[in-house]
Amino acid sequence: MFVSPPYIKCPKCGGNEYGVLMINSKDYRRRCNGCMYSESYKLPALSKKIVYIDQNALSNMMKSINPETEAYKKGNLDPFFKSLFELLDRLNKYQLIICPDSINHYNESVSSQFYKSLRRVYEQLSHGTSFEFPETIKRFQIHNNFLEWLGENPQPITKDNVIHGSLNEWQDRLIVSVDMGSQTEDAVGNNDYKNRLHENMISVFERWKTEKNRNFNDWYEEERNAIGPAILRTYVEGFLKYSQEGYNESTLNFMTSFVSVLFTELKSVLIKRGYNDDDALLKIREYLNSDYFKETSYLKISSMLYASIAKSAANGRKNPPSPGMDNDIEVISSYSNYCDAMFLDKECHSYLNQQPLKKELGLSDKTFSVNNKEDFLKYLQSILDDCPKEHLKLIDEVYGNDWGEPFIEMFEKINED
Ligand SMILES: [Zn+2]
Repeated sequence: MFVSPPYIKCPKCGGNEYGVLMINSKDYRRRCNGCMYSESYKLPALSKKIVYIDQNALSNMMKSINPETEAYKKGNLDPFFKSLFELLDRLNKYQLIICPDSINHYNESVSSQFYKSLRRVYEQLSHGTSFEFPETIKRFQIHNNFLEWLGENPQPITKDNVIHGSLNEWQDRLIVSVDMGSQTEDAVGNNDYKNRLHENMISVFERWKTEKNRNFNDWYEEERNAIGPAILRTYVEGFLKYSQEGYNESTLNFMTSFVSVLFTELKSVLIKRGYNDDDALLKIREYLNSDYFKETSYLKISSMLYASIAKSAANGRKNPPSPGMDNDIEVISSYSNYCDAMFLDKECHSYLNQQPLKKELGLSDKTFSVNNKEDFLKYLQSILDDCPKEHLKLIDEVYGNDWGEPFIEMFEKINED
């Protein structure tokens, strides 16, 4: 291990070689290069804001600092994205915010020719923190909702339950990088999956266009009424197939799927309460068909967003949403409860600002997009402005006074290889 600046006067020998040896989650250690004297110093507790940055903004930030990209060479990118990166990186280094990455970032980046650059940017800002998979978060929410339906009072789901990595620990200077999978295979599989989703969206969109006599609530109810029965049907079909065929690739996929794991969890809750297998399944069926289930947070959010698209189709909108829309809806419905702020695609953002979503979901105050990009910079700047002077002084002591400088030259040496 090496001692880094900032150097101060050594309490033992008095030389000016007393630098920082390491930064831990709750303290940091100095060592003198002259006499080797070493001591640890406590660091105060942190309370970082969780800020989610969507793929589009991430990609534009990457382009605005990566000289290899066409957009950079042409110089026609909105300068907002460079300012955004600078502010996010600065706040992150000041230990005031953290921008967890997600499987959605990975999925949306992996087929890009700039995959490594995109990953470099989201890892710079996430610093080893990632959201759990959306399906895991949905399962947590259903599990809690189920316990409430049974009359229990479960612990609320917190940021720490759905984000892994150290949210409120002091960071060392290094960026942790974990490759989440095999890039080529994932790129191929993802494109197939995305194309299927989008084809499905296009055909539903065509139907919505013809539904001139329906209103928002009709589509909203249709969307959220469909989920419970779909989960039930998937489980029954998967389970029957497994009973008939035993283990094969398809039944194994089912056994590890969201639906199968969810059923196992809900069943174990009931078994503990004295139910037998058959009664437990009947009770789960009753729950999935109940109005209470339909109040599960992710389900409400995603159903309202799809209903908003349906409404726009019936009102005469010509073109279906872009292929990224399903991904955007998944991001908002799974992660928004656990974020202090989110920078989103402008279409979803504008839906969140329309009624009844604005009132029912209450997400309009903490979500931003290019529609109100200046407000997002102001919001971020206010985090810095509200930060106590002592905190900034401590940052200088631990990391040095040039530490807050944004790392805009990250691509000047590392290029795609
Ligand atoms: Zn010394």
